[in-house]
Amino acid sequence: VSETKVPNCGSRIMVFVRLRPMSKKEKEGGSRCCVRIVNRRDVYLTEFANENDYLRLKRLRGRHFTFDASFPDSTCQQEVYSTSTAELVEAVLQGRNGSVFCYGATGAGKTYTMLGTLESPGVMVLAIKDLFTKIRQRSCDGNHAVHLSYLEVYNETVRDLLSPGRPLVLREDKQGMVAAGLTQYRAYSTDEVMQLLQQGNQNRTTEPTRCNETSSRSHAILQVVVEYQVRDASMNVVNRVGKLSLIDLAGSERALATDQRTVRSIEGANINRSLLALSSCINALVEGKKHIPYRNSKLTQLLKDSLGGDCNTVMIANISPCNLSFGETQNTLHWADRAK
Ligand code: ADP
Ligand code: MG
Repeated sequence: VSETKVPNCGSRIMVFVRLRPMSKKEKEGGSRCCVRIVNRRDVYLTEFANENDYLRLKRLRGRHFTFDASFPDSTCQQEVYSTSTAELVEAVLQGRNGSVFCYGATGAGKTYTMLGTLESPGVMVLAIKDLFTKIRQRSCDGNHAVHLSYLEVYNETVRDLLSPGRPLVLREDKQGMVAAGLTQYRAYSTDEVMQLLQQGNQNRTTEPTRCNETSSRSHAILQVVVEYQVRDASMNVVNRVGKLSLIDLAGSERALATDQRTVRSIEGANINRSLLALSSCINALVEGKKHIPYRNSKLTQLLKDSLGGDCNTVMIANISPCNLSFGETQNTLHWADRAK
């Protein structure tokens, strides 16, 4: 049994935008919608109340963006998954690593997109479901293993969400950066996965002052390692290993707030070192730089083997339609625009 990797056919970052629906509370509070999505690609950010005024924005810079696809608020979970992530799942089965990030302000819909609900499971669950279906169709003698780990980076501390306890230490070994003692959960079916992830999500760090809400500073990372056997062209049995990382990032509003402060307050607060480091890595990748600064944070260290190089990267920028979130939405769209 030998190892096989499919040759790299070029990698770039695919960038998507997803608009969430206006909540009942926002509607009742008289909020207006400040985002229009046209033709599933163009995003217009408008301060105007008139439905048709967005067309005027075609002439306004900084208010019109285009992405690989933009999802209006009516888009279902399955469509978000099929358009953004299904290709990465296919690549993982070919032995290429990949990662999918949800970026955006708190309340913009990141956790809904990644985890979803029992009735409408999100990208994490749909990806695993798809993996199981495809492996069963292809594995030559049914030999396969799917291992899940679910971890959190909070204040540059790494914790196991499947088995909460003391912080985990990162160390470099032959396979790359590993969190020592991290639970590798062997999954046999999709049904168990949703429950497992929901439990894990409840183990995410909460804000001391609002103990029922997940901290907006916590990054949740699901890593799925797939190993299975296929026959190659000469009918030899070969082992394929691929890794998919799915990341529900911390709220971007604080990163932007700290961006404008001094380095010292970033160091002191330590709150979004990982988010800032991720932005630096993505900018370096987009600019085609040789040196990618993975070492600057726990998040980027953990994702070193899944970001850049031969890997596929997908960014889903989540935005709110509400006019009260105009500034945050604009920041998110600018950030996503730079990641293209
Ligand atoms: P975030 O994780 O970015 O802080 P959430 O995913 O928790 O935001 O979303 C905030 C609220 O909006 C939640 O109540 C969530 O269920 C709801 N929501 C977000 N996106 C959608 C969507 N596409 N469809 C329906 N409800 C959504
Ligand atoms: Mg969330």
